[in-house]
Amino acid sequence: MEIEKAFTRLAEGIKQNGATACQETDPELWFPEDAGLAKIAKKLCGVCPVNKECLEFALVSNEMHGIWGGVSVADRRAMLGLRRKKGGSQRGIPARLIF
Ligand code: SF4
Repeated sequence: MEIEKAFTRLAEGIKQNGATACQETDPELWFPEDAGLAKIAKKLCGVCPVNKECLEFALVSNEMHGIWGGVSVADRRAMLGLRRKKGGSQRGIPARLIF
């Protein structure tokens, strides 16, 4: 998916569902310096109505900072590697990482 298309889907999702947890709480939570904070951010993302769109945008824009869609930088790197190998959108994403 292209970056613009992914961004549009994310923006439309936020518009339909209202503010997300990362917009309403301390943004530092999504750029955690310890595993405890990362766990909290991931849980909040897990119930976010736009987590799929958020993750897709982070993947296609190659975002390498913070937690997006409940997925850390390390896991996104792994997902991108699998995606490249498989040559498809979600075909390379392990089921445990798809919401
Ligand atoms: S899934 Fe994305 S938009 Fe939703 S709370 Fe997490 S980082 Fe924010």
